[in-house]
Amino acid sequence: MKYIFILYFLAINLCLADEKPIHSYPNGATKAVIFSYDDGVIQDRKLVELFNQYHVVGTFNLNSGLFGKKLPWMEAFTGKQGEYINLDEIKSLYKGHEIASHSYSHPGFAGLNEAELKFQLSRDQQILAPIKGSPLKSFAYPLGSYDNAAMQLVKQAGLTNARTTNDTLDFELPKNHMEWNPTVHHEKAMPLVKQYIALKSEKLTVMMIWGHAWEFDKNTKNNNWDYAEKLIRTVSNKDDIWYVSAAEFIQFLESIKQ
Ligand SMILES: [Zn+2]
Repeated sequence: MKYIFILYFLAINLCLADEKPIHSYPNGATKAVIFSYDDGVIQDRKLVELFNQYHVVGTFNLNSGLFGKKLPWMEAFTGKQGEYINLDEIKSLYKGHEIASHSYSHPGFAGLNEAELKFQLSRDQQILAPIKGSPLKSFAYPLGSYDNAAMQLVKQAGLTNARTTNDTLDFELPKNHMEWNPTVHHEKAMPLVKQYIALKSEKLTVMMIWGHAWEFDKNTKNNNWDYAEKLIRTVSNKDDIWYVSAAEFIQFLESIKQ
């Protein structure tokens, strides 16, 4: 009888072992945090400084056709005219972070004809890949605008992932890497960051926070630099989180696919 119990106990344990996660991220964690920021504006300089200070990784989605140009409309939001970063500062500015594509000149992708879509993708790649030193892998849809044709062409262009602006407000892994719905825009991120830090997860999860660095110059609630620092500081330096770029994250997911 005693042996039957022991056998039963062993069988139960084997079953439970089967349910445990097979994988963890490279640092042994089951949680991951990705920051994805768009447009390549001069406020990225300040944001990169904060990322570096707190040892988190950013994915920066850039429009190579707009470098050095002005953004007059930004004055209505920040009190001063906006500016895109310059081509010659990209390599040093984004050192340690991911240089990614946001199209050449930022048109909405939904309904755009094939030739223009191909141009927008290939031109950005042509300009940025030599600076990065390898092909661009990540993409963010300009204006969050896309359709099935755009998704197909982004994939055909060799990009491994494409971010939308549709917040999931959860920590599930992306199902379609060409339609990667992020967790949350930074403005609404703090409660979710706190929830994520407290989460004890047996399965792999991810929190992707997105936005534009210039929004922190609005100086409104949850869109100011004190808030930016608090958010980054709160989520940073946790042993059970993998801080990673979008491309490296997707490469890892692809590598564990059966
Ligand atoms: Zn944009």
